[in-house]
Amino acid sequence: MPELPEVETIIRNLRPALLGKQILSTNLLWNRTLVSPSPAMFHKRIREQQVQDIFRRAKFLQIKLSTSHLIIHLRMSGDLLVVLGGYQPEKHDRLIIKLSDDRTLVFSDPRKFGRVWLVDDPAEIFNNLGPEPLSDEFTPAWLYTALQSQHRQLKPLLLDQSFLAGLGNIYTDEALHMARLHPLTSSDSITMEEAEILQMAIREVLEEGIRRNGASIDWVYRGGDFQNHFRVYGRQGEACPVCGTKIERIVVGQRGTHICPTCQVLANA
Ligand SMILES: [Zn+2]
Repeated sequence: MPELPEVETIIRNLRPALLGKQILSTNLLWNRTLVSPSPAMFHKRIREQQVQDIFRRAKFLQIKLSTSHLIIHLRMSGDLLVVLGGYQPEKHDRLIIKLSDDRTLVFSDPRKFGRVWLVDDPAEIFNNLGPEPLSDEFTPAWLYTALQSQHRQLKPLLLDQSFLAGLGNIYTDEALHMARLHPLTSSDSITMEEAEILQMAIREVLEEGIRRNGASIDWVYRGGDFQNHFRVYGRQGEACPVCGTKIERIVVGQRGTHICPTCQVLANA
């Protein structure tokens, strides 16, 4: 599933092709892709609106229109592209939006888990999200206090979008390895010093992911190459880049998790 750096990359690529375009018509090919409003209301309301901006919030894309916001979550296999010239729908297309200047925005999604909303107020969707890890709000002090206020295992807590927005399985494993923390560590046992290191590690892996245009793994290839620079993710049996120990794969909260048993020791175990 695309995480923060992948969604950021998609937005950077889409922005120049979408800004200022007007929506001429829409074609919804799979009704369940659209969560709200009803298909009839969607077509009626979105027509003639203009694309004013495009942002990322957590793993969502937010397209700001004249009076509404088009919100998209790609989930497992969703992809967005802008095509120039005539467009013929393809097998996995779920929503096609005809734009001015002979452009078409295509949402394709082979596995059909992706979702689209058209809302007046994005807070309806973003209400329960935690802070953005690349924002000023995400400081070591905030992270320390937030970790102390919970008694949960570190990895499932970091994956919880209501705690912190945008991290998924890949970047969580990478950040925990960089911070030398075991994914099962209890959140309230983290010291201020460890919280500082973890805050820095989360930022660093996300920024590196963005610099490398995200990772191309488990989902549609979009040109990113961060998968060639993973420290631990998917590298079980290979050498830890820090100490050379063989990386292990364990299961944490039903998610495959990659650790170095030498660098990431579970305290009090
Ligand atoms: Zn190691």
